[in-house]
Amino acid sequence: MFQQVSSAMWGFTTYVFPASLAGTLLEVLIPGEKQSVQSRLRAIPIWIVYIFIGVSSGALLRCLLDLLHIRPLLSVDLKNATNSNDVVVIIAAYAVFPAVGFFIYDFFYYWFHRLQHTFRVLWRVHAVHHSIEELNAFNDYHHWLENALRVPLILLPMSLLISVRTFDVIVYTMILQFMGQMTHANSKISYGLFRYVFSEPRYHRIHHSAEKRHWGKNFAFMFPFWDVVFGTAYFPKPDEYPRTGLPQQREPRSIVEYITAPFRR
Ligand SMILES: [Zn+2]
Ligand SMILES: [Zn+2]
Repeated sequence: MFQQVSSAMWGFTTYVFPASLAGTLLEVLIPGEKQSVQSRLRAIPIWIVYIFIGVSSGALLRCLLDLLHIRPLLSVDLKNATNSNDVVVIIAAYAVFPAVGFFIYDFFYYWFHRLQHTFRVLWRVHAVHHSIEELNAFNDYHHWLENALRVPLILLPMSLLISVRTFDVIVYTMILQFMGQMTHANSKISYGLFRYVFSEPRYHRIHHSAEKRHWGKNFAFMFPFWDVVFGTAYFPKPDEYPRTGLPQQREPRSIVEYITAPFRR
């Protein structure tokens, strides 16, 4: 228990805090809507609970896989590749393998996310993320149960396909966190033509829009490609920057509200 609490604190300072600061810097340089400081401060204790559950879920998955003797189809150990003398192999190790991994992850995330918007029981949990009224790189948390649901619906199927070393998992998690905070940044930045390749903040903001005409769009986390393939892509116009939040659900104002939100209505 103590180990998991310290892991949650470590996770907050290692993963979330630097990524949030980077996102905040982007918000200062290229701002979006005007927001309050409270919307950011409220998120700090919520993140700690979220990461605590995430660390526990990850440990549980590893025990489960060991217990069932499940081995993945493909095992990737970047250590051998990065020790290679061949430049092409090193570039592949650092760029291509992780990119392929993220691409596969985004496919599973896309369908997990879409299911959350389809089934009422899953939506109750996911609605916490959508209830955030002043969305930014500091308060883009999900409900703690959502983190646990990712184990059977994303991490488990991915573990059957691909396996990476613990160190690489840590690096990938940090990259995913960084991407997540950037994607939720309250910024009107445009990636230019790259916006069709990588999800920019304005693209994901459409997914969080309070306007009905935007609902059911932009489920992909990193690559709009999956939205284009499955017919849910919506690339915003330059002046399109909608409000976020849900009309019938306010964002959590305390840890208790955060923990119990899906069970209260
Ligand atoms: Zn959603
Ligand atoms: Zn989001």
